[in-house]
Amino acid sequence: MQEKLKEVYDPQKFRKDGHDLIDLLADYLEGSKRKENEEVLDFQTPDKMYQKWKQEKHQSLKGMDFYKAMIDDCTNVHHRQCIGHQISPPAPTSALASLVSAFMNNGMGVYEMGSSPTAIERLVVEVFANAIGYDMRAGGFLTSGGTLANLTALLTARNLYKEKNIWEEGSRNRKLALMVSDQAHYCVDRAARIMGLGKEGVIHIKTNEQYQAKVESLEEAYVKATKEGFEIFAIVGSAGTTSTGSYDPIEQMGSFAKEKNIWFHVDGAHGGAVVFSEKYKLLAKGIAMADSVIIDCHKMLMAPAILTTLVYKDGNKAYQTFSQDAKYLLQQHEAEQWYDIALRSFECTKEMMSIKVYSIINEHGVGAFNDFVTRLYDLGKVFYELIEGRENFRLATKPQANILCFQYYKEGMENSAISKMNEEIRKQILLEGQFYIVKTQLHGQTYLRTTIMNPFTTKNEFESLLNKIEKIGSQMT
Ligand SMILES: *Cc1c(COP(=O)(O)O)cnc(C)c1O
Repeated sequence: MQEKLKEVYDPQKFRKDGHDLIDLLADYLEGSKRKENEEVLDFQTPDKMYQKWKQEKHQSLKGMDFYKAMIDDCTNVHHRQCIGHQISPPAPTSALASLVSAFMNNGMGVYEMGSSPTAIERLVVEVFANAIGYDMRAGGFLTSGGTLANLTALLTARNLYKEKNIWEEGSRNRKLALMVSDQAHYCVDRAARIMGLGKEGVIHIKTNEQYQAKVESLEEAYVKATKEGFEIFAIVGSAGTTSTGSYDPIEQMGSFAKEKNIWFHVDGAHGGAVVFSEKYKLLAKGIAMADSVIIDCHKMLMAPAILTTLVYKDGNKAYQTFSQDAKYLLQQHEAEQWYDIALRSFECTKEMMSIKVYSIINEHGVGAFNDFVTRLYDLGKVFYELIEGRENFRLATKPQANILCFQYYKEGMENSAISKMNEEIRKQILLEGQFYIVKTQLHGQTYLRTTIMNPFTTKNEFESLLNKIEKIGSQMT
C-alpha cells in the first residue's frame, strides 16, 4: 500500500482537522472572530481572484489556513447585511448532515446504496405533501435544484399528455406548448426549449402591476394559441416569482387547468415554502390543486444548496417521466419501487439529500420552517414600510414576500437616467462591500433588488442600507 494513500485516509488527521474546522465555523457563526464592521464581501474582479489563488503564497496554504483564506474571499451569507440573492444562512445542523452525506457517500440511485436515507426521503416528502394539503396518493422525491425539478415535472406532464408516446416517438410535428406568466423564472423557458418546444412553445400569460399572472389573460392566451394550432399540455404558476416574490393566482389557475384538462404545475422554488407558515400560507391558496409542486429547501427552508422537493398530487405519475414502457410500469409496479429513486429522478447517483432536511425537522421540528418563513416575510413588511416612508425612494410593487425591488430617484429625472443611477449605486455598494444587494430589470428599468434571507437582520440594517443608498445617490448628478 502506498504511503500516500495511508495519509489520505488517516483517521487521526481527519479527527483533528474535523474538530478544528467545526471550531472555525462555529466561531464564524458566533461572530466572535469577526473584525469590527466586517464586510459582507471583499469584491475582487474574477481575474484578480484567479491570479491571487494562483500565486505560490496562496497555493501553499494548507488545512485551516486554507479554509480561513478561502472563507475570507467568500460572500458572507451569515452577515445580517447580506440581503441579495435567495440563499439563506443554512441551519448548522443541516450543514453537519451535509458532511455526513459527503462522508458516507451512499449514491441513492438504488435502494441498497442508501437504505436509511431513502426511507427518510419518503418521510420528508410526506411532510411536504402534508403541508401542501395533498392526500395519501401524493408522492415525490428530492432533486438537485429548482431548475431540474421544474424540468422533471414538466417532462412528466408532457409524457402523460394524451397518447403518452412522446417519450418514445418524439413530438414529431406536433406543436406542443405550455403556458406561464412573463415573470416566470428563466428555467421554465429553458425547460421548454430542452423539451424541444422551441421559443414559441412558451405561451406567455400577461401580468398585472403586481407582477402576477392576470386571470383574464388565461383564457385569452389559451384561445389564441389553440387557434394557431398549439396543443397546450401544461400551465405553470409561480409561487412566487423570482424578481418580485409575487404570487400568481394559484387557485384560479388550478380551476383553469382542470377545466381545460391540462397539467397544473406550481413553481414554488422560493415561495412555495409558505405552506409551512400559518400566517402566510394563504398566499399560495389552492396549491393542493396542482398536479406537481416544487419547493427549494436551500432558499426558504434553511438547507444548504442545492436541494429541492418535487411532490406530485398522484405520486404514481412520477414513474412515467422516464418510462420506456409506461403501461407496464404502472400495472406492475405502481408504488412498489418507490425505493429505487432513480426511476423517477434525473440523477442516477445523488447525495443523501434527505438527511439535510430531516436533520432540521428532527432537531428543531417542522415549526422551525414556520418561524423562518414567517419571520422573513414579516421583515419584508418592515422594510417595505421604511422605503414607503422615505423621500426619493419608490418601490416596483408592494411586496408579498421577502423580496423587494425599489429605486432611488430624483424629481424630474427621466426613467432611463434613474435606471442608470441605480446601476451605479448597486455597483458602488458591491465595491464598498458593507452590504450585498442585487439588481433586476422590470419593464426595461433597473431596480435595486433585495431578498431578506437572514432572520437576524433588523430594521437597523434596513435603515443603514437606505442611508447608504441615499448618500451615494445624492452625490450623483
Ligand atoms: C430560484 C428559482 C428557480 C431556480 O431554482 P434553482 O434551485 O436555483 O435551480 C426557479 N423558480 C423560481 C421561482 C426561483 O425563484
